[in-house]
Amino acid sequence: MRANAAHYELIAPTNLDDVLATLATGGYAPIAGGTEIMVALSAGRLPKKPLVSLQHLKELRFIETTPEAYVIGAGTTFSDIRHHAGLHADLPLLTSAASWTGSIANQNRGTLGGNLVNASPAADSPPALLAYEATLKLVSAAGTRTMPYTAFHLGYKKTALQPGELVYSITVPRLWTGYRSYTRKVGTRNAQAISKIALAALVLVENEKISDIRIGAASLREMPMRCSATEKALRGQSVTPQAIQAARAALASEARPIDDIRSTAAYRAAVAGNLLEEFLQQLSH
Ligand SMILES: Cc1cc2nc3c(=O)[nH]c(=O)nc-3n(C[C@H](O)[C@H](O)[C@H](O)COP(=O)(O)OP(=O)(O)OC[C@H]3O[C@@H](n4cnc5c(N)ncnc54)[C@H](O)[C@@H]3O)c2cc1C
Repeated sequence: MRANAAHYELIAPTNLDDVLATLATGGYAPIAGGTEIMVALSAGRLPKKPLVSLQHLKELRFIETTPEAYVIGAGTTFSDIRHHAGLHADLPLLTSAASWTGSIANQNRGTLGGNLVNASPAADSPPALLAYEATLKLVSAAGTRTMPYTAFHLGYKKTALQPGELVYSITVPRLWTGYRSYTRKVGTRNAQAISKIALAALVLVENEKISDIRIGAASLREMPMRCSATEKALRGQSVTPQAIQAARAALASEARPIDDIRSTAAYRAAVAGNLLEEFLQQLSH
């Protein structure tokens, strides 16, 4: 049954320390853009816990550029990301993901941190962040810690966040000179559709051989997935029909696609192989 928003307490401290102190009491859940939380509320699935808003915290909404990396505050919206010239130039996998996340209204409110913590296997930014080998900075009243993003997702909608902890920022290396990138989302429509399957990949080809490759995928497991076996099958190889077939076989063996209302596991497995092949075929042009 649809819940009544008036039955939920919402507080909005104006600084991060107050938010962290509030979360440390154990009595509150964070809300950022609210684009996931309001859907859960409407569906009557939102636990009856008071909410503490992150939405107006300037400390969480920033994009810093260093020579080696971009540091993106967890409260940065998809609109901030897709309109950032540096990110466009250096991290096209991420800006593409931001540009096809929901509608413009969604992108104006939805945050990168909320996308990661919501931890849907079908979410758009995780494949890009897996390919870019992002790291996360987590913060709580007790202090901060960092972890590779690959260690963040533990299972279906399960993350390594501890109670009282927030994602503070996402650091994405920008040292991809010479790499080619590929990303494609397959959904019911080109816009306003959660993906059935998505792939994001980076590859470095030297002397006609793949010297480095990183592939992230959505909906191939119960959580966002780095396709390590597929990468291993391709590293050191020339892009031949045999290498493409071996890579498809490696992807098929490591994928356990989800089966849900948006698509079947069999469709996802077949299309993931096709996307991988499309990506590899493009390398010969
Ligand atoms: C119509 C519609 C279309 C959508 N389309 C897409 C799509 O195409 N692709 C896609 O990937 N997603 C899509 N979404 C999902 C959603 O917009 C994204 O997941 C968005 O990034 C969520 O961010 P938010 O700030 O709104 O999160 P919120 O709803 O505020 O929070 C989501 C979860 O994250 C937690 N949280 C938020 N920020 C933090 C933080 N910094 N630290 C710790 N916990 C935090 C909250 O407690 C909550 O559990 C869609 C949603 C809607 C309603």
